[in-house]
Amino acid sequence: MNNNITFASLALAEPLLRAINDSGYTSPTPIQAQAIPHVLNGGDVLAAAQTGTGKTAGFTLPILHQILTQPLKKLTAGRPRALILTPTRELAAQVEESVRLYSQHTKVRSLVLFGGVNINPQINALRQPVDIVVATPGRLLDHVGQKNIDLSGVETIVLDEADRMLDMGFIRDIRRILKLLPEQRQSLLFSATFSDEIRDLARSSLRNPVEISVAPRNTTSELITQELVQTEQRHKRDLVSHIIRQSGWHQVLVFCRTKHGANRLAEKLSKDGLSAAALHGNKSQAARTRALAGFKSGKIAVLVATDIAARGLDIDQLPYVINFELPQVAEDYVHRIGRTGRAGSEGRALSLVDSTETKLLKAIERLIKRPISPIEITDFIPPDPSTQPAEKPAPASRPRRDGSAARKNSTRRPRSTQNARPRRSSGTAPSNLS
Ligand code: AMP
Repeated sequence: MNNNITFASLALAEPLLRAINDSGYTSPTPIQAQAIPHVLNGGDVLAAAQTGTGKTAGFTLPILHQILTQPLKKLTAGRPRALILTPTRELAAQVEESVRLYSQHTKVRSLVLFGGVNINPQINALRQPVDIVVATPGRLLDHVGQKNIDLSGVETIVLDEADRMLDMGFIRDIRRILKLLPEQRQSLLFSATFSDEIRDLARSSLRNPVEISVAPRNTTSELITQELVQTEQRHKRDLVSHIIRQSGWHQVLVFCRTKHGANRLAEKLSKDGLSAAALHGNKSQAARTRALAGFKSGKIAVLVATDIAARGLDIDQLPYVINFELPQVAEDYVHRIGRTGRAGSEGRALSLVDSTETKLLKAIERLIKRPISPIEITDFIPPDPSTQPAEKPAPASRPRRDGSAARKNSTRRPRSTQNARPRRSSGTAPSNLS
């Protein structure tokens, strides 16, 4: 990752080095190599980095080091020394999991606070001393309102995925929370993109920050095969189902633009015999946790998610991403496909593109500075509309036994189907996709 700097040379406390070693990390990632020394020095940091770069350890490890090396004489209940704000519940849970992982050989206490679940266990936990709180803004303010938490002892605040927090309308909550913190504090802001609003927030919340920028991992990664299939919107559900069933792909993350679309696709895939679940903001926290755990353990083969729900999910070495629709914002394409090809493993990103999405496709290709290769799914037979109800998904087309090519459905500069081969990790090869 970074050939010159080692974790040992960053002078982190011994129990942290042990935890890093347990995690199997050999050297710091570029964001870690740059951020850790600044955070250890106590300075503010403005970092351009997205999920997958190792940013969580980049701020968690030095915060833990400071807590360990500057112990307080007196412990007070519900008065954290570090506060990490994240946009989504899933990200909050994941960040706190990382805090626990890196602090496993220490007595540092951490806690995660997010909405959508019973507040009482959180209140009980806040009756104990706590060092690090990871929270979503809304639930944190609920606890502030109920005087369950005292933010006057916060030494370090982290705004993680700040751009997404602003997208989700948290700016007023964030400003309210910042006002409750001591003037003398360290502030760290991590964001994938830098809009005027983020710059404004940085100006008003950081003091002489060091600016760090690492290339978004994977944008030009040779490890990810990026392809597209030109099709029609009305065939997309059948096509996704066909592709996944024919290829035997497992652990596929499918992105939909809307919650409704995600539900309908997950239902269709389940009807076709695939284990699929939808992940979006209208799902209860229990359902979201269940879906994510099922997906991580391999019980659920296909997770159908909206961008916001999927953002920040740390699912390692995901082999397949499908864009059911292209995202409205080109940068989101990079975030989406950045989930594959991690940690040296190969990945495949396939986008289903209809004629209304040509402009979005052009914008994405401009951003990633390369064309996305069109491929054909030659053995997909779109269901006959005369036998289909107008807007209902079609029944499953059975996989062709002989795996032969049936009909072309792509017209855009297609490459040969030979190139449609996914980087397979397991399974048999039932069709031209495999
Ligand atoms: P993040 O960008 O914080 O979401 O981290 C992305 C993934 O990188 C996580 O699965 C981490 O466990 C992993 N990771 C973080 N730091 C390192 C490192 N120095 N070496 C290898 N993997 C790492």
